[in-house]
This record gives sequence, C-alpha cells and structure tokens, in this order.
Amino acid sequence: VKLDHGRLLADLRRLAEFGRLGTGVDRPCFSPQDRAAREWLLERMTAAGLDARIDGVGNVVGQMRTAPRAVLIGSHSDTVPKGGWLDGALGVVYGLEIARAWTEADRRPPVGVDVVSFADEEATFSGMLGSRSFCDGLLEGELETATDAEGWRLRDALAELGWGERPPARLDLARHLAYLEAHIEQGPRLEAEARRIGVVTGIVGIRRIRVRFRGRSDHAGTTPMQLRKDAGAALIEFCHDLPLRLERAGSADSVWNLGRIAIEPGVANVVPGFAEVLIEYRDLSTSVLDRIGAEIRAATVAADGRAGVTADATESLALPPAEMDPAIGELIERAARGRDAPAMRMPSGAGHDAMVLSRHLPAGMLFIPSIGGRSHDVAEDSHEADILLGADVLADAALSLAAREGGAVG
Ligand SMILES: [Zn+2]
Repeated sequence: VKLDHGRLLADLRRLAEFGRLGTGVDRPCFSPQDRAAREWLLERMTAAGLDARIDGVGNVVGQMRTAPRAVLIGSHSDTVPKGGWLDGALGVVYGLEIARAWTEADRRPPVGVDVVSFADEEATFSGMLGSRSFCDGLLEGELETATDAEGWRLRDALAELGWGERPPARLDLARHLAYLEAHIEQGPRLEAEARRIGVVTGIVGIRRIRVRFRGRSDHAGTTPMQLRKDAGAALIEFCHDLPLRLERAGSADSVWNLGRIAIEPGVANVVPGFAEVLIEYRDLSTSVLDRIGAEIRAATVAADGRAGVTADATESLALPPAEMDPAIGELIERAARGRDAPAMRMPSGAGHDAMVLSRHLPAGMLFIPSIGGRSHDVAEDSHEADILLGADVLADAALSLAAREGGAVG
C-alpha cells in the first residue's frame, strides 16, 4: 500500500475550496458549502471504488464491498465558523487516500478500509451528531429540538437538503474491526517537544460545577461594611485561592477555568445579593476528575456561611473520558518509529468523533503538529511534510491492524 502524496494533497486543497475564506475555511454543517463538500466527497469515494452514500444525518460513508471486514477511517468535514482547512478534513482525506491505495495494491483484501466523514462534529446544530447517530442513534426528539444559532431546526435542515428521509448509516460490529482517526493537534505540545506524530492515549473527560453564593441585596451607600452579606465579595474570595487548590488536586495534564462569573443585580449602587461561578475542568483520569470535584466542594463548604453568605455547588456537566485502545496506540507508535519519527503519547484536550466510536469498538487517534498550536481559526496550518508523514504512518498502522485481524494485505 503506497499512498499517492500528490493526490492526497490535491484532494485536501480541493476540499478547502468549499467555503474557502482566505487561508481558512468557513463550512458550518449543512451550509451550502458543506453540502457541496459532502457531495464532492461522495464523488471521490465512488471514484475510489467505494460503495458510497450520504445518509439521513449527512454522514458520507464509503464501504469497500470487496472486503468482508474493514478498518473504518475518517473524521468530520464540517468546520467552525471562520475555521481552519485541516480540522476534520485531514482525517477524512487520509481515509480516502488510504482506501484508494489499498484497492490499488490488492483487489481482494480480506480486510478493507471503509471511509467516513461525520456530520456536525462542531455542533452547528448538535455536537458529534453524525458519530452519535452512527453508533447510538440520536436522542429522543433531537431532530425537533436541535437548531442552529438562527433557529433553523435540524429536521428542516435535513429535509431541505433532501437527506431527511434516508436511513442512517450504522456501525456494523460484524464488519468494522476498529476506528482510526487522524487529526491536527490543535495545540502546541508536539511542536514544543519537536515531535511530528502524537499518539492519543485518550480524550479527556469534561465536568462543570456551578458554585452559587446567596447573600442579601442592600443599599450600597447606607449599609455599613460589617453588616453586609455581599455575595460578590464571597465569590471573589472563593475564586482567589481556587487555582492553588486545583493545582494540588489535579494532575500535570489537568486544565480548568472559571469560564463564567455573574454577579447580581450587577450594578454599582447595590450590594450583590447573588453571585455564581461556572468552573470547567478536564482530565483523562476519572479519579483525578473526582479529586478536583471534591476539592471544589470542600472549598464551597469552607466558604458556606462566611460573612452571612451561603454557598452551594452543583455539577452541571459530566462527560466521561474516552480511552483509546492501547494496542492500536502501540501499532501507531511502531508505525511512526518505522518512519523514523518517534511519537509522543498524549491526551487530547479537545473532543473528537473518536470519543463516541471508542465506546463501541477499538479506536485509535493520531495527531500531527499544528503550526504555532493554532486551530479553530483561519491561521490553522500544518507543515506539508507532517501532513504526508501522518498519512503514511496511519496507513502503516491500518495495514498492521488488518494483518493482525485478517491475514496479510497487499
Ligand atoms: Zn475536528
């Protein structure tokens, strides 16, 4: 299996023309430019000899019918508004090129390559819509309740595209033996360590805790300081030593932020009667997430009742971490070594379709470096040599996976 580097780059650049915006791409899911990109992908997959279709939620899926089993390779082809040209597109075009080269190398492989471009990973309507539909089916009523920022209902969007009545494509565990997704890192770590390939160990879990402070609104001029129940002041005091507490509770890879702070009524001449902070934290380990959560609760208990202000903490989001398959990680690592590019193991701080897939079948992810760590912006880019290396490494890993599962290929 030998990839055609020129063809790979040409397809990546062609895909970037749909919704092109300067050096970047503006291709929100189900926009006219996203539709055109999906129809183009369908053509390319068909030309590659795959049995391809666009399903009822906009997933473009191509199957190598000559093979009874397949490694599924892909990512998403929608972007955030004013996004970059590689986020998602890279993994889809890798899949396309690997499937093409696979077919050229051997016309009757026991294990083939299926390719997928999932819909709406970036949550224009509903995050990871395509991969969730593919694996689990959608949530009850989701087609009715999910809308884009303009209030366009998901069901109406799909009907207008003419896809709404189509059956959804589904993961087939009798056929799909693993899922591989390549992606740009979207952060600065590979570049900082001078590594060209990242092996993703897992995708971090995300939790949010809302801490509320209730005091009493009073006249800001006439109420003596010692008689105030200032919820705003209590919040500031709480937030002041929180970073140190969380640093002690977390791991070296933990991240957190105080993403939203509100003080009510939020005017200068009223003592704040209510305040709240929304804390988000992420880590790969459930026990570390538990520790951070416990620390936030302990800090809340310590703050409760101080200066007449009550404090309570409630969890508002808990997305579990997703582990990538360690054996597939090793195959990617070995493939990278085979190309003289020692890989770096790392967690993904961003969500990816692989986190949905990994709950159903063995999944592996490969990262290539993002120049300057930039992503979700038109400045997003990667070095051409890294783009090509990543494709070769993924193809090698897919081959050894296929050989392990179904005998030699190509
Ligand atoms: Zn992405």
